[in-house]
Amino acid sequence: MIKEHHNADSAVTLEYCCDFCDYSTMDNKESLGMKPVMECHACGRHVCSGHRKFYMETWVDSHKGMYCLGCWVIGKKHRDQMISVQNEAWEKENDLRLAWHREGREEKRRQLAKRRRPKLGQILVSEEYIKQEQLEAALSEQMLTIGQVLIQAGRITVRELQEALDYQQKVSKQLGEILKELGHSTPEDIDWGLNRMARKLGEILKEQELLSDDELRHAVATQRDVSSE
Ligand SMILES: [Zn+2]
Ligand SMILES: [Zn+2]
Repeated sequence: MIKEHHNADSAVTLEYCCDFCDYSTMDNKESLGMKPVMECHACGRHVCSGHRKFYMETWVDSHKGMYCLGCWVIGKKHRDQMISVQNEAWEKENDLRLAWHREGREEKRRQLAKRRRPKLGQILVSEEYIKQEQLEAALSEQMLTIGQVLIQAGRITVRELQEALDYQQKVSKQLGEILKELGHSTPEDIDWGLNRMARKLGEILKEQELLSDDELRHAVATQRDVSSE
């Protein structure tokens, strides 16, 4: 991101900021062909030297592309294909590159939309569907571990959980697997527990009868409206 600073003498100075960390500079001069903050060739986000990668393409005269780390990760599968077609079909390489850039831009848009969208819980409280304490209680339900979920439901005992946790220290396995292995839980118990853990906020509140289907639909619509403003 480039920030404009308006000074007292009405001059404007620019501050070049990395979109991935706190790095910024007022002096973005090129040295050895490289600026401290550069623009991603796919999504256009600004990145410092720690948050960029370069990819050398063979298409037309060896185009060297600079990418933010976000687009670099997205581009992995495209680069693999690009390398496989290099030197035989530069049009194909170019198509792959364009697809990579398009996906990078789409991902950036998704990230921005997510950041703008208010949390459902905040809307439910501010529109007075539920109270802040009720929101916090529901959110803390989402934080429960598989062991806590099974204990709450009376499906295992505290002693059984402790035994499984002790055993987990010795083997690197998931707790659910260990509970099954020790015979404390059936596969159905574990599936049930995992489903409980995956519940969304709205589902939890509906289950607690704090929210009706209609109210949830209404709140989700409000969330969408606010984020598209
Ligand atoms: Zn950075
Ligand atoms: Zn990018």
